[in-house]
Amino acid sequence: MDTDVEVLIAGAGPTGLLLANELGLAGVRTAVVERLPQRTGRSKALNLQPRTAEVLDCRGLLEPVLDRSQALLPSGHFAGLPLDYGALDTAYPHQVGIPQARVEEFLEDHLAAYGVPVLQGRELTSFRQDADGVTATLLGPDAAERTVRAGYLVGADGGRSTVRRVLGVPFPGRDGRVGMAVADIELAAAEGESGGSGEPWRLPDLRPDPAGVAFLLPLGDGVHRLFLGGPEQQGADRDAPVTVDEVGAALARCPGPPRTLRAVRWASRFTDASRQAERYAVGRVLLAGDAAHLHAPAGGQGLNLGMQDAFNLGWKLAAVARGDAPDGLLATYHAERHPVGARVLANTRAQMVLTLPDPDAVVVRELLADLLTTPEANRRVAAMISGTDIRYPMPGAPDHPLLGARARARAPGVRLLSGRGALLADAPSATVAAAAVRADRIDQGPAADGGEALLVRPDGHVCWAGRDDDADGLRAALARWFGPPRSRLPDGGAPGRPR
Ligand SMILES: Cc1cc2nc3c(=O)[nH]c(=O)nc-3n(C[C@H](O)[C@H](O)[C@H](O)COP(=O)(O)OP(=O)(O)OC[C@H]3O[C@@H](n4cnc5c(N)ncnc54)[C@H](O)[C@@H]3O)c2cc1C
Repeated sequence: MDTDVEVLIAGAGPTGLLLANELGLAGVRTAVVERLPQRTGRSKALNLQPRTAEVLDCRGLLEPVLDRSQALLPSGHFAGLPLDYGALDTAYPHQVGIPQARVEEFLEDHLAAYGVPVLQGRELTSFRQDADGVTATLLGPDAAERTVRAGYLVGADGGRSTVRRVLGVPFPGRDGRVGMAVADIELAAAEGESGGSGEPWRLPDLRPDPAGVAFLLPLGDGVHRLFLGGPEQQGADRDAPVTVDEVGAALARCPGPPRTLRAVRWASRFTDASRQAERYAVGRVLLAGDAAHLHAPAGGQGLNLGMQDAFNLGWKLAAVARGDAPDGLLATYHAERHPVGARVLANTRAQMVLTLPDPDAVVVRELLADLLTTPEANRRVAAMISGTDIRYPMPGAPDHPLLGARARARAPGVRLLSGRGALLADAPSATVAAAAVRADRIDQGPAADGGEALLVRPDGHVCWAGRDDDADGLRAALARWFGPPRSRLPDGGAPGRPR
């Protein structure tokens, strides 16, 4: 049966939209379906971590995102304890303060360049897969059902993912123990606290307090985000509206001058539920972002984790759709991203413990706060929360300090605007000749600092590093990550698209 699209993505959140951009760049016929009839303009997340900034910069998308941002914070935090991003090995040693809605809007607008549609008001309700593809059922705005045939389906449909449920993948973990809420509120202007666009963003105050968490972050233009997590929020139904009384009580507990609440623009409950899909892929169906993992928003990592899932998956799915993927390439998505997700689940659980007003948790927090005053400990935790310490296993390649790491650690100027991989080596050499037979999948550039040759995947991770004359080692890495040379592809290979 012919397919309508090669890849169908359920969910136009940050994960689905970045994935759609990656597939669009690779020329893969893709469509995104989104249950909501229009964008809400609401934002859960407010930040991009350094690794996400690198990812966007890799494709030339960071500049326009920065143009839409509100602040650059030179630090991150672990349960509110400051982390110095200045010490990180990155060209972007800061968090970008930008509401999630603006990131989504930019990514969606950018899709127009590739002709990838975002079909709003279309809810994916079920699907079945067979050996050749996936047939998905969509419920449209007029309550009419239609089916779409796709080669692959990606569930980027958030924490309550329909794709995950229909797939029947176990989602082990635990339910929430702590109830919290966020409210974006308008305040009457208080002296010294205008909430204007010039007011600096700051790290959250998560010191344990028996009365519960209550802190305000200025978002600009008189709007503040209020985080509240006290006795009133415990045990509340997740979908129960947050009341003005709850907001008012938490506001009164925030440090600083008394404030007058003008309006609640939006409010929502959340918990520290912590769950992860046992498998990120079953046959032709994959899970990414919150659909694959749920955790407390501690440290500002969820959106970043989802976008980085998308960046890992996009080029692999594109290679499969093009027909030049080496065996096992798609399986590396789960193998690489599941451990990264598990680590975020673990660190967010640890952070939540450090916010509890339990005397034993308080002494652990004090101990950690002391440790984090030492540069090495601070840098280690900062590297974890910022996503800059991610290294993927590269089986079969000779060990090297850069293997599996971000190429940018050694070659900060490297961008992969074409979405292809890159061989950074000094020409002419044996390695350059070895890569030339895959010129449709690999660009070439000069060797990085230090003169060593690096083979970089389209997601910016080094998959081979070595001497210029190690053509055999390079050939093995090329075959493992980029598939056979063009002449050995079944039909001579899809034509390389010059960019
Ligand atoms: C209070 C709070 C604060 C947060 N703060 C931060 C932060 O500061 N930093 C950070 O990194 N992360 C933060 N997060 C987490 C972050 O918001 C999420 O990790 C992120 O939204 C995940 O993106 P996603 O695209 O995977 O899923 P979502 O953003 O949930 O998007 C999924 C999309 O799929 C659509 N959809 C759902 N079901 C279907 C269906 N059946 N068919 C079609 N479409 C469907 C939904 O309407 C939605 O648009 C926070 C979360 C919360 C709750």
